[in-house]
Parts: sequence; structure tokens; C-alpha cells
Amino acid sequence: MNHLEKFENYHKRKILRELKQAGILLTEINIPVIISETSFQIRSKKHSEQCPYYAQEKPCHDIKDLNCFLCVCPEYHSDMDEGGCRINNQSGKWHSPYPYSKSGKVWDCSDCSFPHFQAHIEQYLRQNLGELRRIQDEI
Ligand code: SF4
Repeated sequence: MNHLEKFENYHKRKILRELKQAGILLTEINIPVIISETSFQIRSKKHSEQCPYYAQEKPCHDIKDLNCFLCVCPEYHSDMDEGGCRINNQSGKWHSPYPYSKSGKVWDCSDCSFPHFQAHIEQYLRQNLGELRRIQDEI
């Protein structure tokens, strides 16, 4: 597992652990609750130590109802040494120099809001509930 995959794995497990501790099961009926619990508005209050943007009370992207569930975008090529975007979203860009990849560059998503929209989170949850529940059971 490379360092990009490790970060993705770490973030996913952290969010799933928090939901488990809050007693929120990963069921279809709970999707609105999961989305609410992982919103910037709620997480910045309950988990203020988890992100520098929470302390500033200023979301990383200027969009309405920003959600943090997919802080690590599922479309990110974390299995690649230098990352990349599976859907070629034009909001991303290459960043260099980057000391941790052989090419010296890394895919930078800091200007892309795609994974933070509630509609995308809802779709992702509907498609991946079984797998997420399996991971949550292991934690
Ligand atoms: S955040 Fe945007 S650019 Fe980055 S992987 Fe996701 S869709 Fe692609």
C-alpha cells in the first residue's frame, strides 16, 4: 500500500469509526443522518481537532452544505504513485515539485469541490453501503 492509499484508508476508517461511536449504522434509511453527521457544519463543532479548516470555521471549498465524508475523493487514483483523477475532472491539476513520487509530481485536488456535494455523497453511499458496513464491522 503506497502513502496515498494509506491516507485514504486512514480517513475512511476514521469517519466510519466516528459514526459507529455515535451509534449511526450504515443503512439506507440512515443515509440522511450520515450526511448530516458528516457535514462541515456538524463535524467542525464535534471534531474540531480533525481539520485545520474546522478551527477557522471556514470550509475548504466555497459551496453550500459542504460535506466531509469523502474528504478523500473516491475518484482519486490513490493506487498510482503520483495519484490522478479517474474521471479527468478539469478542476484538478498536477502539482510539482513533489518529493514522494518517482515523477516528482502529484495530482492536486485542492480546487475541486466534486466529492463535497451532498448529492455525490448520497450516490456513493447508495452504491457502497455493503462494503462500508463490512469495514465498519471490523473497526
Ligand atoms: S477531487 Fe476532483 S479532481 Fe480530485 S479525484 Fe476527485 S473528481 Fe478528480
